[in-house]
Amino acid sequence: MITEGMIDALLTLPYGLHIVTSHDEGKVNGQVANAVCQVTAEPPKMMICIHKGNLTHEYISKSSVLAISVLEQETPMTFIGLFGFKSGRDVDKMSETKWEKGVTGAPVVMDHAVTVFEGKVVDECDVGTHTLFLAEIVRAERVKEAPPLTYAHYRAVRHGKSPKNAPTYHPPSGEEKAERSGTGMKKYVCDVCGYVYDPAIGDPDNNIAPGTAFESLPDDWVCPLCGAGKSDFSVQQ
Ligand code: FE
Repeated sequence: MITEGMIDALLTLPYGLHIVTSHDEGKVNGQVANAVCQVTAEPPKMMICIHKGNLTHEYISKSSVLAISVLEQETPMTFIGLFGFKSGRDVDKMSETKWEKGVTGAPVVMDHAVTVFEGKVVDECDVGTHTLFLAEIVRAERVKEAPPLTYAHYRAVRHGKSPKNAPTYHPPSGEEKAERSGTGMKKYVCDVCGYVYDPAIGDPDNNIAPGTAFESLPDDWVCPLCGAGKSDFSVQQ
């Protein structure tokens, strides 16, 4: 059983944010994955942890190939929201994204990528809710000189959250729920994805200046992470 103390400790583990993609007979899809890392040097192998319910999991299982794009620090929240909080079963994420067909046949996302990798699955391990795929890396390419987005930056600076299918998902802690904005204005939480609108920060990606109260946001403003409307937000208790 996971406890709040354990969550606090687990949140110190460093990760990156990546887009993991795969294909199945012409269909392509991708998702955000944080649990991605190199595990051996010769031959170079990486492990990638994907929720069994995700469409990308289905495609990796069928094709045995995948691609990984390491995201840059300045990746917009809307891009992370599209790949992290929406299912490829509901929206065609790749049609809104610049990508190219890789040497393995897997689609490689180039938008906001610092580096791209392609791998062939050589083994896998059932870890309960998720599968740990072990992939031998057949392509590794630096595409942009920019710092990568770390999970710590995403959480602390961008106020990003994890969706329920993430290996690192934790329900909001009591402390997070009790947190109040320094402006005296109320914070609002997205009931769909858990994103918190903080008036002290605003929504810089969408030209909402710091100091803008939630009530003053335009009626057509949407959650920068998942695209939910204002009516899907409630006051943070
Ligand atoms: Fe949301």
